[in-house]
Amino acid sequence: MNEAGDWGDNFYTCMVCEKQFRNPLFEIARGYERTVFYCGDRMPMVEPIESEGVGTYCSPACLNHDRNRLLERDNVRATYPGIGPIESCSRCGKPVDMTQYHMAWTEEKLHCEWGRFIDVLQPIFVESLAVVCQQCVPVANAAVEQKTSSLTVADVA
Ligand SMILES: [Zn+2]
Ligand SMILES: [Zn+2]
Repeated sequence: MNEAGDWGDNFYTCMVCEKQFRNPLFEIARGYERTVFYCGDRMPMVEPIESEGVGTYCSPACLNHDRNRLLERDNVRATYPGIGPIESCSRCGKPVDMTQYHMAWTEEKLHCEWGRFIDVLQPIFVESLAVVCQQCVPVANAAVEQKTSSLTVADVA
């Protein structure tokens, strides 16, 4: 009795209500990012890397229901930081230099177009939930700059 019979393996399962769905996707993601500020009128840009989905939901209601549990597991609170240049750590409250790579949690609404596998994941809405300082979760910036997968990062738990 698989609702996704025609979908093969190409669907998501909501982590709260276990509904199977394909689009849109509500997600909580964790990864590293920094904000790049430019001179003049150019808008600052957030550069994410190594971002991975840690929460998968069918609706904003399900995401709302699970948000605190997920963040508490990582020992941070939802503080909804801005883009910097300086924000407060969502674990210890100390300043976070947003221009340096730091660990960050975001919640996102994504438009998904499925092909054979997933074809397009287009962010419709992204909001920053939490960031942590280098004392709480050190990030080896040299390694991150090379965008290798061999990041040296302390356990976030
Ligand atoms: Zn759900
Ligand atoms: Zn901290």
